[in-house]
Amino acid sequence: MIFTEDQIDLIAQRVTERLAKRTDGVPVRDTGGTRAGSGEGVFGDVDSAVSAAVVSQKQLAALGLEARRKIIAGMRRTLREHIEELARSALNETGLGRLEDKIAKNRLVIDKTPGTEDLCPTAVSGDRGLTLVEPAPYGVIGAITPITNPTSTIICNSIGMVAAGNSVVFNVHPGARQCSVYNVQLLNRAIVAAGGPANVIATVSQPTIESAQELMQHPRVRLLVVTGGEGVVKAAMRSGKRAICAGPGNPPAVVDETADPDRAARDIIMGASFDNNIVCVLEKEIIAVDGIADQLKASLCRQGCVEISGHQLQQLEKVIFEETRGPGKPGVMNKKYIGQNADVILREIGIRVGKEIRLGIVEVDRDHPLVLTEQMMPILPLVRVRNADEGIDLAVRVEHGFGHTATMHSKNIDHLSRMAREINVSIFIKNGPSVAGLGYGGEGHTSFSIASPTGEGLTSARHFSRDRRCVLVDHFRIV
Ligand code: NAD
Repeated sequence: MIFTEDQIDLIAQRVTERLAKRTDGVPVRDTGGTRAGSGEGVFGDVDSAVSAAVVSQKQLAALGLEARRKIIAGMRRTLREHIEELARSALNETGLGRLEDKIAKNRLVIDKTPGTEDLCPTAVSGDRGLTLVEPAPYGVIGAITPITNPTSTIICNSIGMVAAGNSVVFNVHPGARQCSVYNVQLLNRAIVAAGGPANVIATVSQPTIESAQELMQHPRVRLLVVTGGEGVVKAAMRSGKRAICAGPGNPPAVVDETADPDRAARDIIMGASFDNNIVCVLEKEIIAVDGIADQLKASLCRQGCVEISGHQLQQLEKVIFEETRGPGKPGVMNKKYIGQNADVILREIGIRVGKEIRLGIVEVDRDHPLVLTEQMMPILPLVRVRNADEGIDLAVRVEHGFGHTATMHSKNIDHLSRMAREINVSIFIKNGPSVAGLGYGGEGHTSFSIASPTGEGLTSARHFSRDRRCVLVDHFRIV
């Protein structure tokens, strides 16, 4: 007897489900080994993960939209019960960031990642009938996630991808393997409990760069969604598949002479110190107009920042950089200090402060490597400029054309408009902290995959859908 591919998939699924029954009572935490058959999405190799995801996607799509709504609600409900646990496990495993901010990130993606409501069919009717365009699933999505937001990216991607009717195979950052695997298991439990199929969210138990490459090349993966630095973005773009790429940023915060210095200082501290500066949208340098720079610095210090003085700068450079390549060029940050608390970094240059200090600031020249590098640590350079136009020009230069995120503090609408036009970023925040652009203290939905290189911006279910046009000729124009 010859089986079709679909029949083989279904047989594999039945075997998987039978095995799943036998593993009842096995602790949910990842053991590091192959968990194929657990129904909780963890597989020993890419091909097994993709094969299971092919089956689960067909089952998910067959369930319909209302079932998907219930599944998304179930995912949110389960994850809410594990917000702190997931945050703590990410912090313990990666050693990056702050617990309270990781909790806030998880809560944000659970509450504000759009579900099925993001899928809006469109219709055109006329004398020749009715044409309907509907957002349809791609099938299996291959997703690659960063070490900086491991659980929040998985949660956010999963909600959007499942809402659009896809299954997903994650290749997570190896340095965040355990918390990510646990997150995947929780998601599958929630989906199954809400009446969905097993293994809608799949992952490999031992992710590596090689397994990421294999996922990118897998013939049954229809769409790639990668979140990370320049290397992974380039790799995804070379894959030959459709790729949604969320890449690096170096967001400037321009403060002109019309800004409220206290409010600007408050917002910059909130954004730049959030999770110790490891999130891609956060302020990575301040560009302040001379007329306000001293007031701004004084307010930053009054509100809890520590200023690193000129004579401590050389010492700081030796600590935080692994390599500098001279003025005007980005350097390489010392990984040891990425995502660490400000007091830990400041101690290395002889400044002893308490854990409550969230941010160090340092005035530097505009060509300083700290201005040009995505530092991902709570040490923020400040550059002085003569006027707003010079500040905007510099902001455009140091953003490197990533097109990611920028902020500006100003009450001058000409300045705000010029910056908005010239900087050409996916997210531009006026008179607020960068995180407001993620819907955290600002309006709008959230996303932890902001696709600047490929242009989708804050990705959501609609981006994980392909348009399908359905045309009825000469009928159903009913007016
Ligand atoms: P990273 O680029 O080192 O790793 C990201 C992921 O890509 C990991 O899973 C890693 O294993 C994989 N990877 C790296 N190089 C690869 C290659 N050549 N082939 C296949 N896979 C590869 O980044 P990171 O340190 O985990 O995260 C921080 C970076 O990600 C920062 O640059 C940050 O701005 C960016 N980021 C962007 C967004 C966004 O929404 N735009 C969100 C989070 C992080």
